[in-house]
Amino acid sequence: MRTDITNIHKQTPHTGLTEALEVFAGGTSVHFNTGDWRNNTPVYHADKCRQCLLCTPCCPDSSIPVTDGKRAGFDYDHCKGCGICAEVCPFDAIEMKAGNEV
Ligand code: SF4
Ligand code: SF4
Repeated sequence: MRTDITNIHKQTPHTGLTEALEVFAGGTSVHFNTGDWRNNTPVYHADKCRQCLLCTPCCPDSSIPVTDGKRAGFDYDHCKGCGICAEVCPFDAIEMKAGNEV
């Protein structure tokens, strides 16, 4: 059975899932708010940020958007709180705090 993954949601029974959870549609990750299960949350300190943009490509969830060549906040709908951005920031502009509250 092949199922359009864009129709899968929290209430979907196991019979409605794709076999082996295969993905049959592209560009669907935006529909899944993986930030729901974040345990730790990055906090951005704009006063320390020097816009080196090192953090942006290191984020495995593309949750550090860049607009007009500058980063600002986080996409908390998709940030999973892995902490990689805080580790790579050379200027301590990102702090990790416990919990998923923004
Ligand atoms: S790595 Fe740190 S200093 Fe560089 S853009 Fe990201 S938050 Fe700003
Ligand atoms: S904590 Fe992880 S997922 Fe969230 S913005 Fe930083 S690198 Fe991306």
